[in-house]
Amino acid sequence: TIILAIESSCDDTSASVIADGEILSNCVANQEIHRLYGGVVPEVASRAHQANIIPVVDRALREAGVDKAELSAVAFTRGPGLIGSLIVGVSFAKGLAMSLGIPLVEVHHMQAHVLAHFAEAPRPDFPFLCLTVSGGHTQIVVVRDFLEMEVIGSTIDDAAGEAFDKTGKLLGLDYPAGPHIDRLARQGTARFEFPEPQIPDLDFSFSGLKTSILYFLKKELKKDPDFIKDNLADICASVQDRIVSILMKKLRLAVEQTDIREVAIAGGVSANSGLRNALESTGRELGWRTYIPAFEYCTDNAAMIAVTAYHKYLRKEFAPLDIRPVARWEMG
Ligand code: ATP
Ligand code: FE
Repeated sequence: TIILAIESSCDDTSASVIADGEILSNCVANQEIHRLYGGVVPEVASRAHQANIIPVVDRALREAGVDKAELSAVAFTRGPGLIGSLIVGVSFAKGLAMSLGIPLVEVHHMQAHVLAHFAEAPRPDFPFLCLTVSGGHTQIVVVRDFLEMEVIGSTIDDAAGEAFDKTGKLLGLDYPAGPHIDRLARQGTARFEFPEPQIPDLDFSFSGLKTSILYFLKKELKKDPDFIKDNLADICASVQDRIVSILMKKLRLAVEQTDIREVAIAGGVSANSGLRNALESTGRELGWRTYIPAFEYCTDNAAMIAVTAYHKYLRKEFAPLDIRPVARWEMG
């Protein structure tokens, strides 16, 4: 079974080839252009996907050493995401599947972020918990099987990635700010205290943090116009520390409630060094087995779409040819 998978839900165009569950290639074209605007501009993203998709698919097939004629199915991200971005991947996948006379497989983007853990070893055992932290989502998921997932906690406002990106914008950092905050935080000390949101159970909230940072910066800048410049690394370390502590507190609670000690993180924010270190040290302390994806499988990539599609293919879960993308799509 050889599947070509396409991911185009946001601002990265990606294609991957998987053969009998083994990833043969995973190519990504990043859209640098959004940095100019301080965020993803949907119309610009859609057009960039149109320009990127054929070269990226060609490269993925070439790197895998696979010819189109050998494909068993074409998979694509159906949602959630930006509709103008999704439509490029969906249309391309449909056209290719139709011309080759092979089935189409639709994939849920958030399910795929979780299954990125099966792109390479070490692979978690079922059931496991996954904290999925990305640009648009923050979820604690109980993963019972490849396609059997239950969301037991999620954000009531901003996502963890948004918290990084919006705070970074206040600090004058380029979009996406997450990686910049991560890099700067390593040179700083978390000496500023930001309040912890009081949200019950396994849910998250990040909008209050953003507001308190905004007020904190306004107050300090009034006293010292160079406050950000002179304290950038320490501010970044403090912001990152707080975001990580919010995430880890709920993850610990989830382990207590479910008694599942097999714990993974996924999504773009799982690339964060503070979160990776916190998961490892907490895991060691509390006897969890922890799983951290390789960097290329944290942010958006088609390998995770390919892994998910492979398991849907085994179950013969195919999509009809008139399928349409969906911007919002609950998991499970
Ligand atoms: P979703 O998956 O919810 O639809 P998305 O696909 O846009 O959203 P991802 O590509 O999974 O999100 O992740 C992008 C996010 O990850 C951005 O918010 C970015 O700032 C954040 N991010 C990436 N690397 C790091 C890092 N090292 N530290 C913190 N955040 C990071
Ligand atoms: Fe994503």
